[in-house]
Amino acid sequence: PAEQLERDPNKKTLVVLGTGWGSVALLKKLDTENYNVVVVSPRNYFLFTPLLPSCTTGTIEHRSIMEPVRAILRHKRGAVQFYEAEASSIDHERKVVKITDNSEIKGAVVENEIPYDMLVVGVGAENATFGIPGVRENSCFLKEIGDAQRIRKKIMDCVETAAFKDQKDAEINRLMHMVVVGGGPTGVEFAGELQDFFEEDIKKLVPEISPRFKVTLIEALPNVLPSFSKQLIDYTENTLREEKIDIKTKTMVKKVTSETVEAEVVKPDGTKERVVIPYGLLVWATGNAVRPIVKDLMSRIPAQKDSRRGLAVNEYLVVQGTRDIWAIGDCAVAGYAPTAQVAAQEGNFLGSLFNNMAKTESHENRIHELSSQMNLQAGGTPPAEAAQEIEALERRLKKIRDIKPFRYTHQGSMAYIGSEKAVADVSWWNGNFASGGSMTYLFWRSAYLSMCFSTRNRVLVVLDWLKSKAFGRDISRE
Ligand code: FAD
Ligand code: NAD
Repeated sequence: PAEQLERDPNKKTLVVLGTGWGSVALLKKLDTENYNVVVVSPRNYFLFTPLLPSCTTGTIEHRSIMEPVRAILRHKRGAVQFYEAEASSIDHERKVVKITDNSEIKGAVVENEIPYDMLVVGVGAENATFGIPGVRENSCFLKEIGDAQRIRKKIMDCVETAAFKDQKDAEINRLMHMVVVGGGPTGVEFAGELQDFFEEDIKKLVPEISPRFKVTLIEALPNVLPSFSKQLIDYTENTLREEKIDIKTKTMVKKVTSETVEAEVVKPDGTKERVVIPYGLLVWATGNAVRPIVKDLMSRIPAQKDSRRGLAVNEYLVVQGTRDIWAIGDCAVAGYAPTAQVAAQEGNFLGSLFNNMAKTESHENRIHELSSQMNLQAGGTPPAEAAQEIEALERRLKKIRDIKPFRYTHQGSMAYIGSEKAVADVSWWNGNFASGGSMTYLFWRSAYLSMCFSTRNRVLVVLDWLKSKAFGRDISRE
């Protein structure tokens, strides 16, 4: 096959799983000329997740935050292969990854194996449901592009169904009730975007039922955004309340049906009460769970038996108990939060590490070649020059081998909270700086804009912002 012809047998095969924050940062940094690189992911694009909540209401169109992986790889040197497939299992003893084409259109071959010399697992995480009955069947998640599209469709379906001729009163209330479970940044940002959509567009276009529109944010802990500073938590909760978002803290969802959420509320006196909340749209944002492929690999490695939240890695991101397997991002447990910032820094670190490893190998080979020439007096480089070159190479090798372990640098956390306000806990010089409000929103916008993957993405996002401001969001239900 053509692919085998392109592979250089003198180079190691590096297989990278995933095209998310971690893997793409690695690919950006990696000098792909040093390896036969194979990228496997069911998603043939990179997704800029920080702006995903804005796609649920059409503030930003989904394609503006996607970047095709083939466009990213096109600029890389050497043999880089991409397979749109899911890695279904990793055999670390035989050093092969099994891949499956799970897309709609299938050819004669749907399963295959890829042998690797080095493997990077960057498959991210899936949505946590904690086994709560009815969640998977009845709610929308907010992790992938398809999720955002589904939510956008459902919001308008609820509104149009509520506006149906002679719709029942209780049914209007239910359909117009949008419930968000999980008060982490995903839930808060989505609730804020949804309330904006209502205030700025739905209210104008569907005035007859608009007083019934309501957003409820449910959180099991005493506060939303628990990872932010106390000052910003208070600011966020006050702002959300001003926006008329109903925040229900100390409320843990226990069961979901097609039209209701059942939750346990801890009352101020410490007693518990069971409540049933009817909803039209339910968005489930309770954080991450380990993907099956990662669970499967963990179960095969004795050193991973105590790890619960993903692949335990050492300070060089090597998966504990394996050789030649590294893990980055949300599927790795390195002691940091599962964020894009961490994943990108880990990917970038591995890219440098692999570049160094390739240099080390090439220097070592050259030293070996020069020493053999000198020993055999076999001509080639004159001995004095060879000795000098060996010395220089060894100096360089010492520097390369002195590579420091991975250390994460936290730049801060930001979240959009609706009505053109944002909160930011930013690390500044040696201190922390917390701010919330409209200026922070401008900072949030410019920071995310500068972080977009490409100039194309940046231009599209700005155009989307201008478009939705000038003409309102498009409420057509596709
Ligand atoms: P991902 O980016 O999720 O990528 C995983 C990749 O693996 C995907 O390409 C996926 O298709 C692929 N994959 C999955 N299964 C397989 C398989 N079996 N085989 C091969 N490939 C597979 N973090 C921040 O720091 N700031 C933010 O503002 C922020 N906003 C967010 C907003 C939302 C709505 C969400 C959901 C998350 C947000 N995050 C944010 C968190 C951030 O997106 C994640 O921490 C980050 O995506 C993790 O990167 P990753 O590379 O580990 O995984
Ligand atoms: P999260 O884990 O941060 O928050 C989930 C919340 O759901 C928790 O507060 C938890 O108490 C609550 N919860 C869990 N089960 C519940 C139940 N049954 N009933 C009610 N509440 C329940 O999840 P997330 O917001 O999806 O974020 C995931 C990761 O992505 C985090 O590391 C986060 O920092 C990152 N992220 C960052 C940003 C940002 O920086 N703007 C945006 C989105 C996500």
